Amino acid sequence: MSQFSGEWINHDMIFTTFRAWRERLGRYRLEGSKCLGCGQVWFPQRHGVCPKCHGRDLGSYQCPSTGKVEEFIIKDNPFTDLSGTHYHGRGKRVLAMIELDDGLHVAADLEDLSTADVKVGMRVRMVTRKWMRESNSNWQYGYKFVPA
Ligand SMILES: [Zn+2]
Repeated sequence: MSQFSGEWINHDMIFTTFRAWRERLGRYRLEGSKCLGCGQVWFPQRHGVCPKCHGRDLGSYQCPSTGKVEEFIIKDNPFTDLSGTHYHGRGKRVLAMIELDDGLHVAADLEDLSTADVKVGMRVRMVTRKWMRESNSNWQYGYKFVPA
C-alpha cells in the first residue's frame, strides 16, 4: 500500500509513467500510424520501418472512434476496490476486440452496459475513462468503448 493513497501502487498491472507518456496520443485519441509510401495503417502507433513496403516515412493517423464488437469475454475484476475504476460495481469487466470502421482492431474495455447486454456486432464508440494508476500514482486515462 502507498503511504499517500491507501492503494496498491507497486503492482504488475500498474504502467510505468514513461511508457504512459510515450503512448498518450494513442490512449487519449486513438492516434495510430500510417505509412506515407503505401498507405498501410496501424494501431497502436508504430515507429521505424513499414513491414509492407520497407519505407521509413511513417506519419500519424487518426483512427475512427466508432466500430463494432467482434468478440468479447467477461472477466472477474480482481481489483474492484483497489483500482478505483469500479466497473459500475459489477465486479466484472467486459473485454472486447473491436473492429473500427476502417478495419483496424483495438482491444478495450466496454463500459456503461450490463454484462447481459453485450452482443457480438453491436455498435460502439470511444470514450476516455480512468484506466489505472501509473508508477508515480497519477491516474492514467485512456480509451474504453460504450454503446453508440
Ligand atoms: Zn509502407
